[in-house]
Amino acid sequence: MDDGDDVRDGDGEFFVTCPYCGEQVQIYVEPDVSGTLVQDCEVCCNPWRLRVRGRGDERTVDVGRADGSE
Ligand SMILES: [Zn+2]
Repeated sequence: MDDGDDVRDGDGEFFVTCPYCGEQVQIYVEPDVSGTLVQDCEVCCNPWRLRVRGRGDERTVDVGRADGSE
């Protein structure tokens, strides 16, 4: 049975809230990626600046605006 619907699997999947449209979007970050990268919102297509910190299960992702309007 599908009990406990916890998405967090340590698999590089994160939920971020878009700073433009406010939608919560699931993203995938490759396990060996760290630092800053740019990715477009799947909902409104605006550019995010993603900051990946930590390693392994301790990774966190911050999302900000990449168009300079932050
Ligand atoms: Zn968006």
